[in-house]
Amino acid sequence: MWDFETDPEYQKVLDWADEFVREEVEPLDLAFPHQQFVPLEGKRREAIDPLKEEVRRRGLWATHLGADLGGQGYGQLKLALLNEILGRSQWAPIIFGCQAPDTGNAEIIAHYGTEEQKQRYLRPLLDGELFSCYSMTEPHAGADPTMFTTRAVRDGDDWVINGWKFFSSNAATASFLIVMVVTNPDVSAYQGMSMFLVPTDTPGVKIERNVGLYGERADQGSHALIHYDNVRVPAEALLGGEGQAFAIAQTRLGGGRIHHAMRTIGLSRKALDMMCERALSRQTQGSRLSDKQFVQGYIADSYAQLLQFRLMVLYTAWEIDKYNDYKKVRKDIAAVKVVMPTVLHDIAWRAMQVHGALGVTNEVPFLGMVTGAAVMGLADGPTEVHKTTVAKQVLRDYRPTDGIWPSEWIPAKREAAQAKYADFIEHEVGNL
Ligand SMILES: Cc1cc2nc3c(=O)[nH]c(=O)nc-3n(C[C@H](O)[C@H](O)[C@H](O)COP(=O)(O)OP(=O)(O)OC[C@H]3O[C@@H](n4cnc5c(N)ncnc54)[C@H](O)[C@@H]3O)c2cc1C
Repeated sequence: MWDFETDPEYQKVLDWADEFVREEVEPLDLAFPHQQFVPLEGKRREAIDPLKEEVRRRGLWATHLGADLGGQGYGQLKLALLNEILGRSQWAPIIFGCQAPDTGNAEIIAHYGTEEQKQRYLRPLLDGELFSCYSMTEPHAGADPTMFTTRAVRDGDDWVINGWKFFSSNAATASFLIVMVVTNPDVSAYQGMSMFLVPTDTPGVKIERNVGLYGERADQGSHALIHYDNVRVPAEALLGGEGQAFAIAQTRLGGGRIHHAMRTIGLSRKALDMMCERALSRQTQGSRLSDKQFVQGYIADSYAQLLQFRLMVLYTAWEIDKYNDYKKVRKDIAAVKVVMPTVLHDIAWRAMQVHGALGVTNEVPFLGMVTGAAVMGLADGPTEVHKTTVAKQVLRDYRPTDGIWPSEWIPAKREAAQAKYADFIEHEVGNL
């Protein structure tokens, strides 16, 4: 059965969330910019805590995890409908307890963590009381994790970690890091790498600098270059089994990517909303912008692109709920990841153009969205790598032909068709 309708009861919940985000949460983006990942204290806590409390009361806190893993058990489809509302605002995911990268990190601790690790890291993470960091990329290698060299060596009951990690987002304000390291260089990387949970204040964790994105002030950078310099952790810091890093990474990144896509729907829609409002409001050369065919083209292309993307994301979310196995949905998650930067880029770019000079200023959000689109083409893996994944998965359903001609080669098919309907063809000819 195909059904594109939202359950009326849940629609009421979404309507509440939409109004709450627009009225209460979006203003936080301007009142407390760039502070989402700074632990709460003082007046900021006084402003934020009641909002989180309201979300909890409505049963919308941390909806990304299933009930068995400590979340609300809403599933990905319902989460998608909520996340597209949250995507409008930087602060909204924090207020609803479902912000990246903490969602993905919580998911892998829930899946692979011991009871003690869950108590120590997952519980406060789910409570929104601390932040986490995923430390995988290295300065010399990102897209190909088999090239990572950061090493953990066993020393009695401890492991000692040495090496460098790059672009470890939010490390500066995170309470702990999930680090992917080589534990056995003598086997393939797929068996020789492991994940560790490392408190950020462990001696030897040295943040060399926090890299900022283009347009951010030098002191606003949040992507750390970290030197792990003889970082000693106990054996209990290992997450999952030794050599399980690749399996864990797939679990983490699958969820993270689709959540980004859900929020990107909301952000792209914000750009489309702004484009339409401006087109209706601005006059030039005797008519409104909305009367110009070029501008109508921008609006139509943006609407169609967003609708295609939204259906793709919702379908993929539905698949995740149905199969409960990211491996089975890998192709479609990768396809969503491939499409996502282009959708946001194109819609934001057109909206920016329609706003004229104002469009490129820091008084409207479009260039931030364009930068965000560029980031989406890299973070969680470059577009090219995901395209390769899609293509490999698609090709699995095909076989090569036996001979030199394609199986749809018309001369052979015509011959077969004529043989199949030979009696009728002769009869038709006979009647002419
Ligand atoms: C804002 C932001 C936040 C991030 N946060 C984190 C984080 O929290 N933790 C973390 O560990 N990492 C993080 N990353 C890093 C991200 O995962 C890497 O940037 C990404 O995996 C690519 O690695 P790289 O930058 O080293 O590029 P490289 O691996 O050097 O690749 C460079 C380019 O080469 C091309 N390329 C690479 N491989 C292929 C291929 N197989 N086929 C064809 N072309 C290819 C692509 O054009 C690619 O963009 C973040 C990145 C950004 C931008």
